[in-house]
Amino acid sequence: MPRSTVARIDLQALRNNYLKACERAGSAKAMAVVKADGYGHGIARVASALNDLAPKYAVACIEEAWAIRDAGLTQPVVLLQGVHAAEDIAECSGKTFEPVLHGESQLEWLLKGGHRPVFWLKVNTGMNRLGFRPEELPGVMENLEKTGALSQLQGFVTHFACADDAGSAMTAEQTSVFINATSPWPTLLKSVANSAAHFIAGQPLFDWSRPGIMLYGGSPIVGKTGPELGLEPVMTLEAPLITTRVVRAGESVGYGSVWTARQDTLMGMVAVGYGDGYPRHAGTDTPAAIDGRRIRLIGRVSMDMLAVDLSNAPGVSVGDTVELWGRTVGVDEVASCAGTISYELLTGLTSRVPRIVQ
Ligand code: PLP
Repeated sequence: MPRSTVARIDLQALRNNYLKACERAGSAKAMAVVKADGYGHGIARVASALNDLAPKYAVACIEEAWAIRDAGLTQPVVLLQGVHAAEDIAECSGKTFEPVLHGESQLEWLLKGGHRPVFWLKVNTGMNRLGFRPEELPGVMENLEKTGALSQLQGFVTHFACADDAGSAMTAEQTSVFINATSPWPTLLKSVANSAAHFIAGQPLFDWSRPGIMLYGGSPIVGKTGPELGLEPVMTLEAPLITTRVVRAGESVGYGSVWTARQDTLMGMVAVGYGDGYPRHAGTDTPAAIDGRRIRLIGRVSMDMLAVDLSNAPGVSVGDTVELWGRTVGVDEVASCAGTISYELLTGLTSRVPRIVQ
């Protein structure tokens, strides 16, 4: 009998969210970002579900690009972190793996080796993690031209630092730096937009957008939930109730005895914990749901179980299913109670939790 702590994956919701991204992207095409094992949903599963919709995928590294090929999918795959070794350039060549080259050593690997995959250049417009500074671009482009590599260049990429914050001026500043830096080469393609940028009024999305979290129904915008942005939850994490008991007034529950009952309280133990990727920092009052009714966590999350207050849900029994996140309780809500973001919860779900397609 398989474990009944499972993550249910709704691939129709994923497809709907992708179509929503396309709608918001307007004339830009959307490459589906499926890195980190498809944000925890299974890279082959989500990429296959988008096969007839997505003209390109984006991943972090070459291993993830291979996972897409191994699933039998033939679309080009953009490697957002470029390549991590000279040999990777040869591996990209002829496979329609398109690395985003972001620094001098990557360029050297390209120019010195005999292989010439299609590639992109990353422009550092203010995130300051990766990329060539605008003033370095003319030199880089000259070098590419001299060495005959320019014909393989698809275009320019940048990444926003603060697009999740609707009040930040940073996204507009980065966009303007990007436009100025790339203006001498107007025929090359441009890609700037993560999920959040799809929701910023007036934000140009250029030729290719790169939606990630929104495909999975998580919110890219601080202070908003996915459903508030018209997104559908793709993953429902559920686990069974394995016992119920009345905790008497004055008794405490779990490690650290951090929660004490003020009155006699019907409590349930649920078979999911931080060993499954449920966040340990989600403490008392984090929402969950049973039978469509919202309940709350009490005490500390353990490795394999957590406690819930069942006062709101009389009549439930051992074996009943508790939703930790999904349609009744949003993953964004749980993330916010744990002081993190939905990205971390979804990608952090461990291999102990079977993913089941609904
Ligand atoms: N583009 C780049 C370069 C990224 O690193 C990421 C994710 O971290 C994305 C796009 C997708 O971002 P999001 O999941 O916020 O849509």
